[in-house]
Amino acid sequence: MKLIHETGWAEPPAIAEQPLTGDIDCDVVVIGGGGGGMSAALRLIEKGVDVVLLEAQTLGWGASSRNAGYITNSIAADPELLGLMLKPERLRRLYKFAENAVHFAGDAISHHEIDCGYQQEGIVMAAVSKGQLGHARRNAKVMAAAGSSAKFVEGREAGLPEGFLGGVREGVGGTLNPGEFVLGLRAATLASGVRVYEHTPALDVTDAGGGVTVETPNGRVRARKALLTTNADSAGLSIVPKNLVTPVWTSLVETEPVAPARLDEIGWTSRAPMVTLHMIIESYRVTPRGTIVFGTRRVQTGRSPLPDRTPARNIADDLVRGFRERFPALRDVKPQKAWGGWIGMSSTWLPVAGEASDNVLYSLACNGHGFAQAQYVGHLLADRIAGAPLHDDLAPIWHGRKRFSRSFVGGPALYAAWLADRASDRLAAFTK
Ligand SMILES: Cc1cc2nc3c(=O)[nH]c(=O)nc-3n(C[C@H](O)[C@H](O)[C@H](O)COP(=O)(O)OP(=O)(O)OC[C@H]3O[C@@H](n4cnc5c(N)ncnc54)[C@H](O)[C@@H]3O)c2cc1C
Repeated sequence: MKLIHETGWAEPPAIAEQPLTGDIDCDVVVIGGGGGGMSAALRLIEKGVDVVLLEAQTLGWGASSRNAGYITNSIAADPELLGLMLKPERLRRLYKFAENAVHFAGDAISHHEIDCGYQQEGIVMAAVSKGQLGHARRNAKVMAAAGSSAKFVEGREAGLPEGFLGGVREGVGGTLNPGEFVLGLRAATLASGVRVYEHTPALDVTDAGGGVTVETPNGRVRARKALLTTNADSAGLSIVPKNLVTPVWTSLVETEPVAPARLDEIGWTSRAPMVTLHMIIESYRVTPRGTIVFGTRRVQTGRSPLPDRTPARNIADDLVRGFRERFPALRDVKPQKAWGGWIGMSSTWLPVAGEASDNVLYSLACNGHGFAQAQYVGHLLADRIAGAPLHDDLAPIWHGRKRFSRSFVGGPALYAAWLADRASDRLAAFTK
């Protein structure tokens, strides 16, 4: 198995846009060109705003092109836990936000005619033990009460593979190739007239009250307003609220192609993409090229400036071990490559957006479920910058000027969660 720096989904752009050299002025500067930043910039230009987009690498280089490709209306934290911790009305609004984010991403694919193999087959939060099945039933109830279109399904009825007992099927969303998606969104952004500077990291952002100045290695941007969509690397900028984000490295593995008949034999007739109900999820999906992509399970924290790295060998091996335990009949299927990316974890495990200062807004719609949500938040924040009142879907994640307490997401806690998940696997095998 090769450990690779780039993604397994698509080649990066053949030609990069020129970096910024010299000083420029604009109305709004968007910093960070992932799905969130591109979506914001596209919305701003549509509204006639003079917008500059700065990206440290090339547009889409970060989590947006590296993820597992699930367009999901899940919110990162466990639904049952959210049901206990949040007021019913807040939870209802969060699920409405998440479901509308899925529709937004689908509409963007159609609007920009992006060929990225989007299949709206509905993701299953799948149980691999009787304990997880009970948890799935409780999650389904919480989600139904919160107005989500997700439903409980039995494993056979849902065409899940042997060993996956059932779970909660989301009523919207599905999977796509994220590498192809960001290339399409990048092309749309470049064609739109947004002034894009690639290989241009923002080194410092200051808000003097009358406007914002962004320092980059070879030039400066002066703007009326700024939007930070820098995701996991946000802590590298001193204007970002303390404790807003913990960077977490997440890995994926792709196998060699598997004959469709073998997937039918193990009962995976629906080919439904799945995530398990462990504390740290495992995800398994079939790609249009017939391979299986799986990931997460064990994650690691990092510090800004975040390195461009490959997955750790022991973590990629652990993912393969997990795959073989879940799919014993596919033990001979060879893993081909492993890659990963940085996600930004908020201290609340919920998506967050707010104000870093009078003229600087930020989005951190991530926590590992932000592919569609980051884009939607970018769009809504663009409207806000252009003068719109706070949108109903932005309200449940809006923090304004609130500051954040220290996150309990740290290396030891994440390792403990991995150990707890393995202990629950052993218990499940023992009591089968
Ligand atoms: C391995 C993996 C699997 C995942 N799977 C899923 C999934 O299946 N479904 C799902 O919904 N979510 C998933 N996620 C999360 C999802 O990909 C992210 O939540 C989402 O893409 C975040 O989008 P974004 O635009 O906010 O950030 P990003 O796509 O990370 O973009 C941020 C950009 O900002 C740039 N940047 C950072 N600092 C600076 C700076 N100082 N100056 C200029 N540019 C800067 C970066 O280079 C980057 O391109 C996964 C993430 C990973 C890593």
